Amino acid sequence: MVNIRPDEISGIIRKQIEQYDKGVRIVNVGTVLQVGDGIARIYGLDKVMAGELVEFEDGTVGIALNLESDNVGAVLMGEGLTTQEGSSVEATGKIAQIPVSDAYLGRVVNALAQPIDGKGQIPASESRLIESPAPGIISRQSVYEPMQTGLIAIDSMIPIGRGQRELIIGDRQTGKTAVAIDTILNQKGQDVVCVYVAIGQKASSVAQVVNTSEERGALGYTIVVAETANPPATLQYLAPYTGAALAEYSMYRKQHTLIIHDDLSKQAQAYRQMSLLLKRPPGREAYPGDVFHSHPRLLERAAKLSPELGGGSMTALPIVETQAGDVSAYIPTNVISITDGQIFLSADLFNAGIRPAINVGISVSRVGSAAQTKAMKQVAGKLKLELAQFAELEAFAQFASDLDRATQNQLARGQRLRELLKQSQSAPLTVEEQIATIYTGVNGYLDVLEIEQVKKFLVQLREYIVTNKPQFGEIVRSTKVFTERAEALLREAIKEHSELFSISGK
Ligand code: ATP
Ligand code: MG
Repeated sequence: MVNIRPDEISGIIRKQIEQYDKGVRIVNVGTVLQVGDGIARIYGLDKVMAGELVEFEDGTVGIALNLESDNVGAVLMGEGLTTQEGSSVEATGKIAQIPVSDAYLGRVVNALAQPIDGKGQIPASESRLIESPAPGIISRQSVYEPMQTGLIAIDSMIPIGRGQRELIIGDRQTGKTAVAIDTILNQKGQDVVCVYVAIGQKASSVAQVVNTSEERGALGYTIVVAETANPPATLQYLAPYTGAALAEYSMYRKQHTLIIHDDLSKQAQAYRQMSLLLKRPPGREAYPGDVFHSHPRLLERAAKLSPELGGGSMTALPIVETQAGDVSAYIPTNVISITDGQIFLSADLFNAGIRPAINVGISVSRVGSAAQTKAMKQVAGKLKLELAQFAELEAFAQFASDLDRATQNQLARGQRLRELLKQSQSAPLTVEEQIATIYTGVNGYLDVLEIEQVKKFLVQLREYIVTNKPQFGEIVRSTKVFTERAEALLREAIKEHSELFSISGK
C-alpha cells in the first residue's frame, strides 16, 4: 500500500485548483510520490502508455510499467538518488527505443546503447524500439544455411542453422561462455554480425571477452552489450532486448546475425527483483507470472526472413545456468520449451577433462540438420551412433571383468572418438578440418594410437593436410560435398602422416 498523507493530497488538489485556469498542461506531467530501490510511484500521469519512457526533474529516465488506478509504478534506469519526492515527472510519449547504425560494430555499449568503451560517441541516424514484435509466419522461411560454431561436437551432431534458437545450458563454470565466444570467433570472414549481450556478469569477465575478440580480430564484426552485476536491475532486464534491436537492424538489412544472451537466468533474476519491488504477485520460485512471456517475446525475434524481406537472419544462442544439473527448474524448462534445441554442458564431463563438456546424448537440435552441409552429413552420421553405443557399453563394461575382443575394440574406438571431440578454448575448426578429423576417427585410423597421442596426431594431421593436400580443402569448400576425390586425397594424407608420426614417435 502506498501511504498517502492528507497534506500531500491537499497539496496536490490545491495545485490543481491553482492551475485550473492555466489550461490543460497537466495531462502528461505527474508528481513523484515515492522513490526507492529503483522504483518510483507517480501520481498524475493520466495518459501514460504501458512501457512509456518518463523523465524525472533530475534527468533520470524511467519506464512506466504498472498503470494502477491511483498511481503509476515506474522503474528507474539509474540510481535515482537525486530524485525528490514531490518533484515533477514528464511523460515523453515515446516507448523505450535506442539509436541504431552500422557504427555500432566493434563497440561496447550499455543497455541504453550508450558507449561505455571510451571510444567516443556512436553516430546514428535511425532508432529502433527496444521491444518490437517478432516477424510473423509469412515473413519467415525455414532455416537452411549452417551457422558453424567451429566445435566438432556441435557442428557434426547438434548442427545449428542460421535463424535458429539453440539454448546453451549447464551448471556454473562448465564452459558455456566459451562455447558462445568460440562461435563468435568462428564467424570471422563469414559476413555475420555478432551481438554479445553480457547480463549481470563481473566487469572483468566482460573485459576478457572483449580482449579475446579484439586479439582474434573478431571485434570488428561484433557489438558487445554489457550490463555488469552493478547497475540497476532494470538495465540488466533490458539488455537482451537492446541487443535484439541492434541485431534486428542488421537482419532487416539482409545480413546474417548471431546474438548471444549470457545469461538469461541472471536476466530473469533482475526481472524478479523489479517485479517484486513493483509489488506484482510472485509465482513459482517467486518469479512473476509474466516471466513466462518475457523470454519467448525475446527469442521469437530470432528468425530466418523470407526472400521478400531480404533473407537476413538472426540466430540466437541464449545461455541458461542450472543448479546441480537441474533442468526442471522454472527458468530452464521455460527456455528449453521455446528454443529449437539445447546444448547441454555437464560438470562431470568438464571435471573429467572432456572439454568442451558437451553431453551429446541429451543435447538436441531440432531444425539444424536441414542446414548441415552434405559433406558433414556424409561423415558425421556414423559418429553419433558409435558414441551412443560406446556410452552404453562403457557403463556396462564397468561391471564385467573379462570382455571379448570385439567389445574391447569397440571400447577402444569409443575412447578415441571421445578424444577427437576435445578442443581447446578459442580454437574453432573449419568444416574441412572437422571432416578430416571425424573421418580419421570413425574409419579406425586412430585405433593404433595410444589415447594420449590422439590429440597431437590430429593437430599435426590437420597441418599436414593444409600444407600437402590443399586440394582437399578446396574441394570441400567449393562443392560442399565429400567427393570420392576428396576422400582419396584425405586417405593419402592420413596414410602419409601416420608413417611420419610413427617414425617421429620412435
Ligand atoms: P560461468 O558459470 O562462470 O559463466 P561458464 O559456464 O560460462 O562459467 P566459462 O567461463 O566459459 O564457463 O569456462 C569456465 C572455465 O573453463 C574457464 O576458465 C575457461 O577458460 C575454461 N574452459 C572453457 N572451455 C574450455 C576448453 N574447451 N578447454 C579448456 N578450458 C576451457
Ligand atoms: Mg559464463
